[in-house]
Amino acid sequence: MCAIKDTPMEKARLLIIGGGPAGYTAGIYASRAGLSPVLYEGPEPGGQLTTTTLVENYPGFANGIDSLSLTSAMRDQAKNVGTDIRRGVITKADLSKRPFAFEIDGAPAIEADAVIIATGATAKYLGLPSERKYRGMGVSACATCDGFFYRKKDVAVVGGGDTACEEATYLAGLCRKVYMIVRRDVFRASEAMQNRVKNTSNIEILWNCNTREVLGDDAGVTGVRIERKDGEVFDIAVDGFFLAIGHHPNSDLFKEWVEIDGNGYIVTDGCSSHTNVEGVFAAGDVQDPHYRQAINAAASGCRAALDAEKYLKK
Ligand code: NDP
Repeated sequence: MCAIKDTPMEKARLLIIGGGPAGYTAGIYASRAGLSPVLYEGPEPGGQLTTTTLVENYPGFANGIDSLSLTSAMRDQAKNVGTDIRRGVITKADLSKRPFAFEIDGAPAIEADAVIIATGATAKYLGLPSERKYRGMGVSACATCDGFFYRKKDVAVVGGGDTACEEATYLAGLCRKVYMIVRRDVFRASEAMQNRVKNTSNIEILWNCNTREVLGDDAGVTGVRIERKDGEVFDIAVDGFFLAIGHHPNSDLFKEWVEIDGNGYIVTDGCSSHTNVEGVFAAGDVQDPHYRQAINAAASGCRAALDAEKYLKK
């Protein structure tokens, strides 16, 4: 049981946890509904969008928009309509009592009548220094976001699950050639997804292979050094390197109370944002294992604010 010390704390009607498209949009709607929300941005203000560069698939920007401008515009909009946006990380939550109680940066800090969890998900990376070096310069964890920049080029996708197969097939429609780097001699993906990959002529599967290093120059990624299980080391020339080895939904703080699925995603009721705990709502990638797009996160932030408004005004 994760109790929070009984000390006097600040009180909010609505606490929004997470500074990504879902959290900021929830802030905009909740502020305009007069709920005076307090929003803690967490460790990565802007969320996963900040790991990409140009965003061309968010409606409203005819020539695309760079990700930092997009997230800071969302943040400014939320702030301008009255969201109390703060830097700080929620380090503990107690959803067993009303009002809900939260520690921020390790100290008991705030109570809230309702909470919107919009903590997002974190893409898994291999942890190679070269991968970090070229992040945003050819290294990406979102083919739907960044694939467009590699039209008619060669790219590599790491992973053998459903996401990797889906992303490889998507990229195969844009790129000249797609290598799949799979660490075993079998896919983890469903039969149907495997068949899609195997029936796509410009996908080459590199079985039993691990990435040793992402190669590049000042302009970005130029290739990948690969080691096969039998010890053979070889390079492939690519312009894009896509990670598809899974995501970690940032739900750990809440799983003692809130229902989560087998992969750690918060379960919401139908297309609403209601969790199994009354007054606790979830929005964005922390509850979305399928779409994982900024526009969907923003839309679900809107739903969460409307659900919270209804709950608080009841
Ligand atoms: P998964 O965990 O299912 O697959 C991860 C893949 O990445 C596995 O092939 C795994 O290899 C590989 N991998 C993990 N770590 C490393 C590493 N360090 N180096 C190299 N390879 C690594 O994640 P997904 O994101 O693919 O899927 C998550 C869930 O979402 C699944 O339940 C999936 O079915 C579902 N999903 C469904 C879709 C659909 O139905 N259309 C689309 C996308 C996802 P190994 O197999 O050896 O462990």
